[in-house]
Amino acid sequence: MPDTKPVRVRMAPSPTGFFHVGSARTALFNFLLARHSGGTFVLRVEDTDQTRGTAEYEQVIYDALDWLGLFPDEGPKQGGGFGPYRQSERFETYATLAEQLLESGKAYYAFETSEELAQMRADQAANKQAPRYNGAHRDLTAEQIEAFRAEGRKPVLRLRVPEGETRFDDIVYGSITWKNSEIDDFVIAKSDGGPTYNFACAVDDHLMEISHVVRGEDGLSNTPRQLLVYQAFGWAAPIFAHLPFLLGPDRKKLSKRNGSVNLLDFGTRGVLPDAMFNFLSLLGWNPGKGETQEIFTRQELVERFTLEAVNKAGAIFDEERLAWMNAQYLKALPMEEFLNLVRPSLEQYDLSDEAYAHKAVEMTRERLHGLPDIARGDDAAKYYGVANFGNGANYFFSDEYPMDAVGAAKHLTPENMALLEKLTEKLEALNSFDAAAIEGAIRAQSAESGVKVAALVHPTRLVVSGKTVGPSLWELLEVLGRDRVLRRLKTENIQ
Ligand code: GLU
Repeated sequence: MPDTKPVRVRMAPSPTGFFHVGSARTALFNFLLARHSGGTFVLRVEDTDQTRGTAEYEQVIYDALDWLGLFPDEGPKQGGGFGPYRQSERFETYATLAEQLLESGKAYYAFETSEELAQMRADQAANKQAPRYNGAHRDLTAEQIEAFRAEGRKPVLRLRVPEGETRFDDIVYGSITWKNSEIDDFVIAKSDGGPTYNFACAVDDHLMEISHVVRGEDGLSNTPRQLLVYQAFGWAAPIFAHLPFLLGPDRKKLSKRNGSVNLLDFGTRGVLPDAMFNFLSLLGWNPGKGETQEIFTRQELVERFTLEAVNKAGAIFDEERLAWMNAQYLKALPMEEFLNLVRPSLEQYDLSDEAYAHKAVEMTRERLHGLPDIARGDDAAKYYGVANFGNGANYFFSDEYPMDAVGAAKHLTPENMALLEKLTEKLEALNSFDAAAIEGAIRAQSAESGVKVAALVHPTRLVVSGKTVGPSLWELLEVLGRDRVLRRLKTENIQ
């Protein structure tokens, strides 16, 4: 029978104060699945362990999802028919349901103190046994329970894990089986009455009618316990899909140690949300064998996304690729928007000649990828071609730009400088300082002096821009204009 349950997926972050790019990828895949199938994307804030900063930390989640454009259909702010959407507001529900399991015998009180549990673990370690609750309080009598209470002990509630196996089919990882003997009678309600994570998560996913639990690979070890909770209640379990970790360039799990992990930092450093959306979507998912397209609109991704195409190999969070992808998006932005983005990096310059500034920025932008001093310079990974855009465009606005020392040593030789002097005379004599005329002058000089065109192009570019690479030289000279070009070419002005 076809599964006709409506798709309801959720992102369930804990407010920890920052939003990891791995969480962003998880949120994105949930979002894509929901939009692809006309389903619902739910935000649930898992704040049961929160002791401080909840509101502020929760705001970080909203900021991150807003920035990426992943707007939940239901959540603490949006509301919805399955609330409340903060676990801290659902304690009564958890308590009531835990009580139900107690009454049906599926859960039981356990009174061990933390010292006793520590001792149990130490004994198990000494006997080379896996640490797990030994079930000592599984079958306490009413009198024993009374006696423990009389001592002032506060019990936890543990799930009575049945014998057998717990099996599930993960969409990404395939069939997974756990022996229940490897799972101890875990706590579902703590001694203060609060729920444990696995209990709250299973209860919420059920009550919120979540159809697919799509979460990080780190959730995989929790799944059997959550399934045991479903089983204890007799509930149908959702479909699970665990997403492999994002990896750093060293192929180890991406963390602060081997990369940048804070989603919102990328925004600060000039990554466009659309570029991040596109980039993250291709981490662990691909649009099909043989597909070479890499730039996808949000709509295309929504149309093409399926969970079945997620693969279980860890995906590398490659900042070089992100920088490249971001450059593609930056180049496609309307100029006004792009100018606004790079304006801060040009603030020391006079941009009052708007038409000129526009052309200069456009010309620099075209080479956003591949121009070492812009997209891939020292700070390539850090700035993604926006914050340091001014370094790439500096020579358009000021005669004081740094000279590429290696290029200068190679190209600004005495012979070349003599050639430039001659070229300068030719350029000075041009009636119209346009690209075609400039090209003609350079080619004429090359023929006259019996040197390759490159022998004129490289030194000229260095002198007028300080750089070894850049836009087409003739066009560049036209945009810079006669005055600037001649001023810079007069050898006495060359530093
Ligand atoms: N609150 C959990 C976390 O932040 C969510 C895991 C899940 O999605 O079930 O890791």
